[in-house]
Amino acid sequence: MDPLIRIAIIGGGVAGASLIHALVKFSHLDVHIFESAAEFKEAGMAFGIARNAQAALQLIGPEAAQCLERAGAVPMRGVRIMLAQGEWAGSIADEIDEAAQGKRLTSIVHRANFLQELLAGIPQDQMHASKKLQKIDQNGPITLYFVDGTTHECDILIGADGIHSTVRKLVLGENDPAAYPQNSGAWCIMMLEPFDKAQAILGKELVDIENAREYGWVGPNAFLMHNILSDGQIVQFVITSNDREVEPGSWQRKAGADEIKKIYQDFPPLLNKAVIEILCNQPEHNAFYLWDHPKAHTYVSGPICVTGDAAHSTTPWQGSGGGMSIEDSMILSTLLGRAKSPVEALTALKVYDQVRRPRTQQVVESSRVTGTMLTGVNEETGLDIKKFKSFMSRWDFIIDIDMEKHRDEALQMMEAELRKSVV
Ligand SMILES: Cc1cc2nc3c(=O)[nH]c(=O)nc-3n(C[C@H](O)[C@H](O)[C@H](O)COP(=O)(O)OP(=O)(O)OC[C@H]3O[C@@H](n4cnc5c(N)ncnc54)[C@H](O)[C@@H]3O)c2cc1C
Repeated sequence: MDPLIRIAIIGGGVAGASLIHALVKFSHLDVHIFESAAEFKEAGMAFGIARNAQAALQLIGPEAAQCLERAGAVPMRGVRIMLAQGEWAGSIADEIDEAAQGKRLTSIVHRANFLQELLAGIPQDQMHASKKLQKIDQNGPITLYFVDGTTHECDILIGADGIHSTVRKLVLGENDPAAYPQNSGAWCIMMLEPFDKAQAILGKELVDIENAREYGWVGPNAFLMHNILSDGQIVQFVITSNDREVEPGSWQRKAGADEIKKIYQDFPPLLNKAVIEILCNQPEHNAFYLWDHPKAHTYVSGPICVTGDAAHSTTPWQGSGGGMSIEDSMILSTLLGRAKSPVEALTALKVYDQVRRPRTQQVVESSRVTGTMLTGVNEETGLDIKKFKSFMSRWDFIIDIDMEKHRDEALQMMEAELRKSVV
């Protein structure tokens, strides 16, 4: 059977890669992915793929779920939020323990390895690098125009083109303020260190592959996080602080060794030493600001939609932007797989928007508040251990979703919409 629906995905990050991985199994879909960079390659460091996203991978197919393992993901036995300063310095403020919950929690994976695994089985003639989308023409089918002068025709256009999304502006219109991201004022520096070095600095209790846990340390306007990835060969180390004033439009700032030392000077000695040894052996770092998207009123406009960060960029405080992208891919691929014509594919996009927008926008909002708590600047929680007692329940709505039910509800909504259009 000739493919009935031509789909173009713009952007080869985790959103685009997981989506094409999920869509190629449908023989009635002709799917192509276009990436502006010269290669399909993740530039970021590591991310946590929590159990909701792992469930979504499983529903995409066992092959997708295995990508995590093949990429050397390290399952965390728990996540501990520690207070780093004040009366309760060194104490656990709250934690999630996999054994106590009897459910998997999150796995930390090297981004580039994971992306490579997701794309491993995609036919080369459906993957197009060095293709930056410039504009589109929408008379009947959509014509995509790339910066290199080439074109491509499709029925459905999916923008997985990240926080600076071109497709988001097509969906919302360039005059909609929600088409553009906003700076949260928080900045961060991420480092990947060899396991042995990190363990020598932080000690065996904090860096232990047999008892791998993610630690987040909360101080006054300072956060520090570490976890383990790549089959226990690498430790990720992240520091974050907030700027009260930010130059409009700035994505990066310099953070000097003296400034970093000062921010972490009153952290417990082990952490303070780690900051100095890992980050202060060079005069300065490029720190990048954490941005997110204002609420969009829709993720869809006719045959065009956005997914992943193009739809709902979030600050990373709840470690869920990548996970939401994978969930998007599972739902969108299920609905597009059900569509039997370009017209039915429009219904798939409409339902995708209804199903995914509330959940993903809730994550963006919740993450903003979580960030103030984790950097110790939230007036209500401050550094008061009693106020952190049920802190981890902030993740419940994210990780405890019944993913199968979420998918089935989306499918039922689509069936109902299709029935309506027949009557
Ligand atoms: C510090 C930090 C830590 C994080 N930690 C976690 C975590 O632990 N867990 C988690 O789930 N999430 C985490 N996230 C969020 C996660 O990184 C993102 O949500 C995720 O990477 C988004 O993937 P994406 O594919 O939507 O976008 P991107 O990864 O940005 O991919 C977009 C792609 O589109 C391409 N592109 C852009 N414009 C065009 C164009 N015009 N034409 C063609 N191609 C184009 C780009 O080159 C890029 O490859 C974190 C984010 C940050 C900043």
